[in-house]
Amino acid sequence: MPGTMPRETILIDADDTLWENNVYFEQTIEEFLTLLEPFGYPREYARHILNETERRNIRQHGYGVRSFGRSLEETYMKLAGHLAERKTVGNIHDRVQELECTPPNVLEGVIETLDYLAGRHRLILFTKGEAAEQAAKVERSGLQIHFDAIEIVPEKDVATYRALVNRHHVVKSRGWMVGNSPRSDINPALEAGLNAVFIPHHATWALEHEEVRSGAGRLLILTSFRALREHF
Ligand SMILES: [Mg+2]
Repeated sequence: MPGTMPRETILIDADDTLWENNVYFEQTIEEFLTLLEPFGYPREYARHILNETERRNIRQHGYGVRSFGRSLEETYMKLAGHLAERKTVGNIHDRVQELECTPPNVLEGVIETLDYLAGRHRLILFTKGEAAEQAAKVERSGLQIHFDAIEIVPEKDVATYRALVNRHHVVKSRGWMVGNSPRSDINPALEAGLNAVFIPHHATWALEHEEVRSGAGRLLILTSFRALREHF
């Protein structure tokens, strides 16, 4: 194949594109909302307060499991008020600790598809989050062997896409971003002049929801990671 097919540069998101991620956070949040019900708060209201707290903490402390733990604790303290118990705060942090230790559950079809793509194109893993935490996940996934580079950034926005394009000398018309998040993967990549492949995941985090906007590049929407083989 090489020589007959143009070699593209494909940037690939990790959380909820290569492996399950948000579904574990959602399980923890469901348990947390149950914990708050005896205080008289409807689940939707408690969830709203948690989302607001997460937005604020992400701006201040970035993404990651520790930031998430901080948000759960603050939401609990706020809603439980003077009824808050130290033991419960401890339980919340134990649960978050478990979350951090959950081994990456690689999505179906990912390994063979990466194997196929890596033989034909340049692959760069592009993920956002807390650097050490994301690096540990990549390592435990065993998927790094398929990639020419691993890039971990605090936020995936137009500026970080442009910086990555420059650092790796990506020809934009031959560059693609593959991911599940309109906000972090699709819209900023298109705005930076790249092409994009949107692979929706049913459990995409609420804070990543956004309408897909059209940009200069091409946009493909696929139903599975495996379907990349039909296009690259
Ligand atoms: Mg993702």
